[in-house]
Amino acid sequence: SKVLVSGANGFIPIWVVRMLLEQGFAVRGTVRSLSKGEHLLKMFEKYGERLELIVVPDIEGAFDEAVQGVDAIEHMASPYHYNAEDPDDLIKPAVRGTLNILESALKFGHSVKRIVITSSTAAVVRPTEKPTVFDEKDWNEFAISVVKEQGRQAPNKLKYFASKTLAEKAAFDFYEKHKQSVSWDLVTIAPPYVFGPMIHEVNSLSALNNSLAELRDALFKNIPDYKMLGAEGYTWVDVRDLALAHVRAIRREQAVGRIIVSASAYKWHDFLTAARSLSPNPYPLDVYSPTDPLYNPNQAVQMTDFDTSKSAKVLGMTSESFFTIKQSIEDMLEDWKAKGW
Ligand code: NDP
Repeated sequence: SKVLVSGANGFIPIWVVRMLLEQGFAVRGTVRSLSKGEHLLKMFEKYGERLELIVVPDIEGAFDEAVQGVDAIEHMASPYHYNAEDPDDLIKPAVRGTLNILESALKFGHSVKRIVITSSTAAVVRPTEKPTVFDEKDWNEFAISVVKEQGRQAPNKLKYFASKTLAEKAAFDFYEKHKQSVSWDLVTIAPPYVFGPMIHEVNSLSALNNSLAELRDALFKNIPDYKMLGAEGYTWVDVRDLALAHVRAIRREQAVGRIIVSASAYKWHDFLTAARSLSPNPYPLDVYSPTDPLYNPNQAVQMTDFDTSKSAKVLGMTSESFFTIKQSIEDMLEDWKAKGW
């Protein structure tokens, strides 16, 4: 069967493309231009015609042609950065992109059985005063209201958070309205920070996607106050586990609705200690940020964590099966080193 993957050249999507091909699926990937597809075609040359690319220059346009004849859709394209002044620069493509692919599927996706949309835990969380475990019932109404009130003055992170929340809500509203007349059902996957080795096209360590750039800064002395490394952190998942979850979300009938896929909570210090502990180490130890002798991982307070029982149950993403921080950082650093960075 054939799967449409939007934004196929991105950090996470290209891993989904790879895993789908490895598991015997045919893939149709969307890219914004032919040149953005060259790397994909070369990387997956051995799969021949099982991989085809289609140019959709703007997710705010139609996917009418792209959705025809596919059995499932993985909608992954969405802007992910924290430098939008106007919140609409993020919100419009996120929401319109989602609705456009759904509208095209409604009109032309007669063979589609399932649509999976990559949301984010950015659409789940809210600020808290005490450690909180969030689940699939939680929505980031906070980001929406701050952005509504403050517009351009809203913190940039919240503009992105609002774009993911509004896009995911729009997807479920659309599905509720049309579910009687479509052949597909809807899954949204909400990952936290995604790390891991890269197989997409990136030319330098300064051109990493947003999540990897934050990790790079934590590892390599780019954070002025190193104590912050033990105080701050979020939740994460390795890109390979997340790609597997996306493939299973297509294969497993019982996986419907919203699903949070997260490995664990962390502080940046945990990645730093794991990086420093590698032996042999891909980098000389003095390139890393200094560790904080007072940091104790067992006493770290994690303000945000997730109930991942749904993903364990319906996707089989159990805690023992996730990549560990140590394995993930080792693969990442070896990947960077092999690229000559
Ligand atoms: P990337 O930036 O590597 O990939 C994003 C993809 O979306 C690229 O193909 C990009 O195209 C495309 N895209 C962005 N804006 C537009 C637009 N306006 N029109 C058409 N295409 C567009 O990011 P990731 O792989 O990290 O993200 C993939 C998905 O995962 C996103 O939906 C993101 O929100 C979500 N996510 C990511 C997390 C992370 O930590 N990385 C965490 C949680 C969710 P181009 O290359 O041409 O710019």
